[in-house]
Amino acid sequence: MSGLMTGKRGLIMGLANDKSIAWGVARALHEAGAEMAFTYQGDALGKRVKPLAESLGSNIVLPCDVTDAASMDAVFSELKDTWGSLDFVVHAIGFSDKNELRGRYVDTSPDNFRMSMDISVYSFTAIMQRAEKMMNDGAAALTLTYYGAEKVMPHYNVMGVAKAALEASVKYMAMDLGPKNIRVNALSAGPIKTLAASGIGDFRYILKWNELNSPLRRNVTTMDVGKSALYLLSDLSSGVTGENHHVDSGYHVVGMKAEDAPDI
Ligand code: NAD
Repeated sequence: MSGLMTGKRGLIMGLANDKSIAWGVARALHEAGAEMAFTYQGDALGKRVKPLAESLGSNIVLPCDVTDAASMDAVFSELKDTWGSLDFVVHAIGFSDKNELRGRYVDTSPDNFRMSMDISVYSFTAIMQRAEKMMNDGAAALTLTYYGAEKVMPHYNVMGVAKAALEASVKYMAMDLGPKNIRVNALSAGPIKTLAASGIGDFRYILKWNELNSPLRRNVTTMDVGKSALYLLSDLSSGVTGENHHVDSGYHVVGMKAEDAPDI
């Protein structure tokens, strides 16, 4: 895939460490020749993100908290001054109070509902409002979602509701930006052990269940996700927008596994 993204410049939001899904995406894009800028949330994560970004040849690493409009404005103003235009944006951001990622959805508090929707859903729209102004013809945007938007998953609770809204926002933005030849897609990743996932109750059980019951009989890696992200952000998917592409070892197609299904 070397060269597929040569000459393309884009922003990666949501890198926390080398376990992050954003890291798999960034590595796949780097191998394909893309030039990237990164954002990080807070100084503590900045210390981890800066060396990772530098290892991929990036010298644009900026702070950004998506609950702060001014910090989003600052990122895009810096990119406008340095690059002038953008070919892709990756939104790999989600957050909810971990105390509400266990137990019952119906007990979600109003404050955490609003915060989860703001950070995990609205931020993608807020970012696209800013990115649109500098996106080139043929540019693409990508967000990360999870099957808990489509079906009830234990403990996923308000994040499932937020991801359903995120997936709907992908479709609306695909329609709005399509006339400018800007594509907007989502990638629905299977469970992966990351910082964010560690807040979800019984996450190890979810991982094991996915491994045992998905058609590929394994969990996906951040690089599996990264390679599909490369497809959705490159010209290979020039006719694809508003899509929710599953990278989950096929788990989403399974209704029920036969008790005697061969594991080989
Ligand atoms: P991660 O912890 O590595 O990344 C989450 C990122 O969100 C972090 O970089 C964090 O700094 C950022 N973030 C949270 N609140 C923010 C704010 N207010 N402003 C700016 N950034 C903020 O975990 P990850 O699993 O790589 O998560 C990336 C995306 O993938 C999330 O949207 C997550 O829901 C989604 N996803 C994860 C899985 C999984 O199993 N890990 C599966 C499907 C989808």
